[in-house]
Amino acid sequence: MTNKINRRRFLQATAVAATGSLGSVSLSASSTAPVMKTNLFSSPAPIPAAKGPRVVIVGGGWSGLTLAKYLKKNNPAFDVVLLDKNEQFVSCPMSNVWMADQVNLEFLTHSYLDAANNNDYLYLNATALELDRVSKTLVTTLGSIAYDYLVLAPGIDYDYKRIGVESPEDEYALRMHHPAGFSSASEMIAIKHKLQNFKGGTLALTVPSGNYRCMAAPYERACMAAAIFKKRNIRAKVLLIDMNPGIRIKATGFRKAFSEYYSDIIQYESSADIKSVNLQDREIITDFDSYGFDDALIYPPIRAASIIQQFGLNDESSLQQEAKTDPFKYHLLDDEYVYVTGDSRSQPFSKSGNTANSEARYVAEVISAHAAGKEIEWRSPQTMCFSGVKVDPLESMSIIAFYKYDQQQQAFAFDRSHVIEKWSTKAGQAGLAWAEGMYKDMFYS
Ligand SMILES: Cc1cc2nc3c(=O)[nH]c(=O)nc-3n(C[C@H](O)[C@H](O)[C@H](O)COP(=O)(O)OP(=O)(O)OC[C@H]3O[C@@H](n4cnc5c(N)ncnc54)[C@H](O)[C@@H]3O)c2cc1C
Repeated sequence: MTNKINRRRFLQATAVAATGSLGSVSLSASSTAPVMKTNLFSSPAPIPAAKGPRVVIVGGGWSGLTLAKYLKKNNPAFDVVLLDKNEQFVSCPMSNVWMADQVNLEFLTHSYLDAANNNDYLYLNATALELDRVSKTLVTTLGSIAYDYLVLAPGIDYDYKRIGVESPEDEYALRMHHPAGFSSASEMIAIKHKLQNFKGGTLALTVPSGNYRCMAAPYERACMAAAIFKKRNIRAKVLLIDMNPGIRIKATGFRKAFSEYYSDIIQYESSADIKSVNLQDREIITDFDSYGFDDALIYPPIRAASIIQQFGLNDESSLQQEAKTDPFKYHLLDDEYVYVTGDSRSQPFSKSGNTANSEARYVAEVISAHAAGKEIEWRSPQTMCFSGVKVDPLESMSIIAFYKYDQQQQAFAFDRSHVIEKWSTKAGQAGLAWAEGMYKDMFYS
């Protein structure tokens, strides 16, 4: 069945290429179609011609970087192209402790050129715009790229509508003035400036519902914000407004940290279903209460990065607009040549860098096996996460977890896990060593 589909696609693609009418396949041929789009579609991106089966990866985050390296390692014949809209990589993991000056920005920042040169693949600083699966062509801001395999690892986007923010003006105001800080480096830098310059009063932080990026990070950020205010000796309150019934992970540890170190600073409110944010009166309105603030970092629920939907791959019934993929092999249900990985995945695994890294090593094997007409056995990703609690020196807690597939429930569930909720300087150092090891894995050979 699958072979038939693939053969049909191949024939369609060949026919399209032969008639030279690539642009008419997915783009309207009408004279009103934007000229730029058509040009980009018909002009190839400025990269060398493919020297083997081309695997294009959209997104140079934890998932995409790992995939690029291990695809090439597993099958040196692959011609791998990694695409990212950013010029350099800035790590989200360890960004909270960076805000509290426990590491510098250089620790978080890495070069795509190093990653590509050290691991023998191509890097293109461009944004993916359109996808034509019939001709197997990805259109980018620098032109089009034909692929044999495509991996989409574009991360997440925020979904402000799920906290009642409907108008583009309000959403824009939130993004600009009250950034979530769970996606881009600019947000994280703006938040560090806010924390270092806060004059006092109430700083509200929100924790989203759903499977959001990095379960522990909002609670860790509350600890780091409180530690900064303590160090700066200002009269400030961190108001942590959680849309969940309770702390989602390392709950005992975080509760203890809040009461032992930051009882005069952190106020924790749970089961707060955020209905709207009133920016004029600086209020977060929930189903039962409203909370005033002097400044706020609003982290709304998230969804798979919006290109999944723009490319028409999202499952309409999925709250977080994830793609319809095979839960074990990661390819689209109707296309064995297009994969979705990392925080955009449809599986309910924890959205963490370690999960993305270990999963990408597996998916690289899946794709290599597919190209060789083989299959490999499913193996669980590994989630690992360190959370800073105290600073100078850094003291952290940690968790490591695996997943299993429950045949009866037809769903994934946690398998074995190991949580250390007693924070220590040893775990603080282990967290930094873990991050260094991950950067080494993604950027060096
Ligand atoms: C504060 C914080 C703390 C965290 N702490 C931990 C931790 O301790 N441990 C842990 O394991 N994880 C942690 N995480 C989570 C981790 O950062 C994410 O799970 C991880 O980044 C997911 O990797 P990804 O590759 O799926 O997405 P990303 O790393 O976000 O990468 C996606 C990439 O796709 C690119 N992109 C998107 N759309 C396009 C497009 N159209 N064209 C071109 N490029 C595109 C983006 O520029 C981005 O570089 C933390 C996250 C945060 C925010």
